[in-house]
Amino acid sequence: MAASKVLAGARVVLPTGIVTDGRVNVEGTRIAGTAPAGAEIIDVRDHWVVPGFVDIHNHGGGGASFTSGSVEEILQGVHTHRLHGTTTVVASTVTGDMHGLAERAGLLSELAEQGDIAGIHFEGPFISPCRKGAHSEELLRDPDPAEVRKLIDAARGQARMVTLATELPGGIDSVRLLAERGVIAAIGHTDATYEQTREAIDAGATVATHLFNAMPVLGHRAPGPIAALLEDERVTVELINDGTHLHPASLQLAFHHAGADRVAFITDAMDAAGFGDGRYMLGPLEVEVADGVARLVEGGSIAGSTLTLDRAFQRAVTIDKLPVEDVVAALAANPARLLGAYDKVGSLEPGKDADLVILDAGFGLKGVMRKGEWVVEPHLG
Ligand SMILES: [Zn+2]
Repeated sequence: MAASKVLAGARVVLPTGIVTDGRVNVEGTRIAGTAPAGAEIIDVRDHWVVPGFVDIHNHGGGGASFTSGSVEEILQGVHTHRLHGTTTVVASTVTGDMHGLAERAGLLSELAEQGDIAGIHFEGPFISPCRKGAHSEELLRDPDPAEVRKLIDAARGQARMVTLATELPGGIDSVRLLAERGVIAAIGHTDATYEQTREAIDAGATVATHLFNAMPVLGHRAPGPIAALLEDERVTVELINDGTHLHPASLQLAFHHAGADRVAFITDAMDAAGFGDGRYMLGPLEVEVADGVARLVEGGSIAGSTLTLDRAFQRAVTIDKLPVEDVVAALAANPARLLGAYDKVGSLEPGKDADLVILDAGFGLKGVMRKGEWVVEPHLG
């Protein structure tokens, strides 16, 4: 069992605001209300302590793919993201054939049961060929509710989210099915109109998969999915804040319009995250990563990111100039709520898992704790 610790003197970001000269008490694997007797005191003056990050859309990292890697490789990918502050990660798959995806769901569900990942996100195959991004066109299919059901059944209670193009035949019925089964229906890789998107939200869709990316642009007479997703209080919008997927002004527009409570920063990371440039496979498609930007070898579509959430945090505060507490909400509380896990993770409140990140004054990562154990020992120098 992890020893007790008190992190003292930090700027601590709590749901109620920022506490200067704050303390975080850790007893075993959890956050405690008061300092445990005999706790090790760690002086974290001039640093921030924020909740561990929660990534609801992530395809891999550390050279490993959640869609095709072995168990060992998947765990390596999970560990890579933990080193960058992501203490809770949902494993995302890319489009594959139904049999292969069901098999993958079985394997990932075991890792979810063990607590290594926080469930499964299926991105594809129920997406639009017009907005396929880095998904194999020949494997795409309409969202037939019977097939959607097969996939989530194969995940044995560990399916957390399915991204689908809700305008396709069977789309709305599939959204209803997912909502009934307690799985997030996410609108994405879609060619829907504004009206079609509203219909899907009314049917129970609650997330916009990487808003702006892989959907029609915001037109003045055809506002499309972006306007419908941004304006509706029931929807949380995912944003990839890597400086490549979104122009900073688009990010600002979304953040300010949706409000800090309705944004989830995601990585949409692929194998190269935390690893390096080179050639990779994304499902069956070949990807070239150069200068940290992943593109399909054929056609040049952006193919996921090499982002880690510590960089998303730093960008959001230092480049986008967003308030720290809003960034923390978008990286921890909001995605934790979406997953139905806010009772355990997503904020630094007593009783929750001791998942936290230490950042220096420039928002560089200086320590990561998960369930009371250091993943990255604090280096505070
Ligand atoms: Zn993705």
